[in-house]
Amino acid sequence: MDCLFCKIINREIPSDIIYEDEHVVVFKDISPQAPGHVLLLPKKHIGTLMDIKPEDAQIFGHIFKILPEVATMIGGDEGFRLVANCYESAGQSVFHIHFHLLAGRNFGWPPG
Ligand code: 5GP
Ligand code: ZN
Repeated sequence: MDCLFCKIINREIPSDIIYEDEHVVVFKDISPQAPGHVLLLPKKHIGTLMDIKPEDAQIFGHIFKILPEVATMIGGDEGFRLVANCYESAGQSVFHIHFHLLAGRNFGWPPG
């Protein structure tokens, strides 16, 4: 499958992976928008948040289970932001589900 993030997961494209387990990989965003900016994604290829199936529930439960640990790894103890863009209109540019985890600065609201 011609998917950038599947290639990163399969080590066909290099990245700075900070956490990995059976279901999940976390690597540094190539264009960081905060001092700590990583992408947290399921190893399973799912294109968008709108493509999640009932049988995927365990994977997303797992993602939230490891979230505090990963947030701490990038300096998120004092606060962090979790963002998921769905479809181009919301800013999605890679069509393999990923959560942006950002930390290390203050964040404004509403988001742009
Ligand atoms: P989206 O725009 O889909 O919400 O997020 C995609 C993210 O992937 C962007 O923040 C972009 O900087 C990041 N990105 C795109 N290509 C690469 C790459 O080759 N390596 C890494 N580490 N990040 C990438
Ligand atoms: Zn993929």
